[in-house]
Amino acid sequence: MRPPHCFVCGLSLRDIDDDQDLWSVFTLVTFELTHEEKTAHQARDRSGWVGHPENTEWFCNQHAALAQERSHLHWRTALSEISATHRPDT
Ligand SMILES: [Zn+2]
Repeated sequence: MRPPHCFVCGLSLRDIDDDQDLWSVFTLVTFELTHEEKTAHQARDRSGWVGHPENTEWFCNQHAALAQERSHLHWRTALSEISATHRPDT
């Protein structure tokens, strides 16, 4: 699992105060996978893989709603929509 880092604005743990609860600032949003990806994930889980799944991303309070309203979409679609509308510079 990667450390919290907002997909939209890049807010990270360094940007929050020490007394702020990480889970009150950041939300991990899981998006949909294709059938093939689900099968691959299941095989990976059985092998004890502990990386960061490609269909999950961190979002800060400000941007979590953008992600949650797209969590029913495939992760690639959801993330490209979010970056198209909210990250014009990248
Ligand atoms: Zn953000």
